[in-house]
Amino acid sequence: MALNLIMLGAPGAGKGTQAVRLARARRIPHVSTGAILREEVAADTAIGRIAREQMARGDLVDDGVMLGIVEERLSRPDAREGFVLDGFPRTVAQAEALDGFMVGRPPLIVVDIAAPEEELIRRLASRRICGACGRDATPLDGARGRAATRCSRCGGPIVQRTDDDVEVVRERLKVYQRQTAPLVEYYQDRPTFRAIDGMPAPEQVAAAIVRAVDDVQQQRAANSGDRP
Ligand code: AMP
Repeated sequence: MALNLIMLGAPGAGKGTQAVRLARARRIPHVSTGAILREEVAADTAIGRIAREQMARGDLVDDGVMLGIVEERLSRPDAREGFVLDGFPRTVAQAEALDGFMVGRPPLIVVDIAAPEEELIRRLASRRICGACGRDATPLDGARGRAATRCSRCGGPIVQRTDDDVEVVRERLKVYQRQTAPLVEYYQDRPTFRAIDGMPAPEQVAAAIVRAVDDVQQQRAANSGDRP
């Protein structure tokens, strides 16, 4: 059954980690709007030039730009069997537009990953990525307990994301509260909405997400007479 899933949650809640795992397990694309924007900035495209400063300040990039990116990405053939969207929607206007893109497709499953603010700040302060391919650095990137310096996939340098700087993180958390947290209210009455505790270890959070997705799909199948 096709799986159209969005991960909600504050920066640092674990959306990216969980989205990668789930997309790999279900063999559907992981669509991270933050990663797409970082590529546009790195390649100095027209979109990258619009987004650069807003991202550096921790602000959101304009809805119009984001809708163009997402509509194009979800219309590609590899997204026909579904997708895991990570970092989109982030505003009610984006959520409304996404509902429009979903007409004629299986309904969105919405997973909201929550964690307390101190934990988000702690995680973002220690997060590192590959400066070349943009992938999150994992413990595998550091040998025998030493901090990683090179990406295990492409050999690129391991760096801190510039917007994980503590001042920018504070701004991103404020922006999240103001613009993105209202999405929980937007979605929470849908039968396809599930709240997930983001505090346990990543494996446990992943298992909780799989259970939530199975549960939603079984309910849908039961209601429609389809098979899961
Ligand atoms: P992320 O990697 O999801 O934390 O995104 C990094 C940055 O990209 C955010 O702080 C925003 O500046 C921008 N961004 C990513 N997704 C969106 C979105 N859906 N709407 C607006 N800005 C976004």
